[in-house]
Amino acid sequence: MSNRQQVSLASGCWQKGTVIHEILHSLGFWHEQSRPDRDSHVRINYGNIYRGMGYNFNKLSRQQVNSRNSPYDIGSVMHYNSYAFSSNRQATITDLQGRTLRTQRNGFSREDIKQLNAMYGCRTTGTGGGGGTGTGGGTGGTCRDENAMCARWAGSGECQKNPRYMLKSCCLSCKSGGGGTCTDASTNCPAWARAGECRRNPGYMRPNCCRSCRST
Ligand SMILES: [Zn+2]
Repeated sequence: MSNRQQVSLASGCWQKGTVIHEILHSLGFWHEQSRPDRDSHVRINYGNIYRGMGYNFNKLSRQQVNSRNSPYDIGSVMHYNSYAFSSNRQATITDLQGRTLRTQRNGFSREDIKQLNAMYGCRTTGTGGGGGTGTGGGTGGTCRDENAMCARWAGSGECQKNPRYMLKSCCLSCKSGGGGTCTDASTNCPAWARAGECRRNPGYMRPNCCRSCRST
């Protein structure tokens, strides 16, 4: 690929599945439930969605979405969970029988990988084959995280509370988001966080309600 795109994630968003989700957005993936054929597979319960948040459930056209012949995939890392943006703890997305969905944020589904390979003309056999782990996005110098817990610590404000250790040993996490840029983009954030949205819907919440999600 000739273009580089930086993806910045708030410090609470560094779980593997969430990172994959956001990177797939940047590569052109929409949410699975935005597919034009979604109404044949799931039901959106608009009455349970936070007011003003319905647009997150918009359905897109066939011109906008090309799923490369993959079947509708509830297990896609791009599919919302059943309680995303719920205003009342009732499901916002169910199957057509009204049952909650078994979604996941652990990593790619088989169909996610197939679509990715098709979109970028990659061979579908094997796992490696180009790209590798790379070093892109590094911030240069020796600013690294030396502990696997750094992102989480930074997310809970340790860079400010304990700078002597953190700025040295968790440099990367403190520099990229844990260091005071963690704010709420909506005045609804505290209420959503209290309702458990940070855990239920981290893809939206962690970046947009970083401050409120910090302690959850
Ligand atoms: Zn998303």
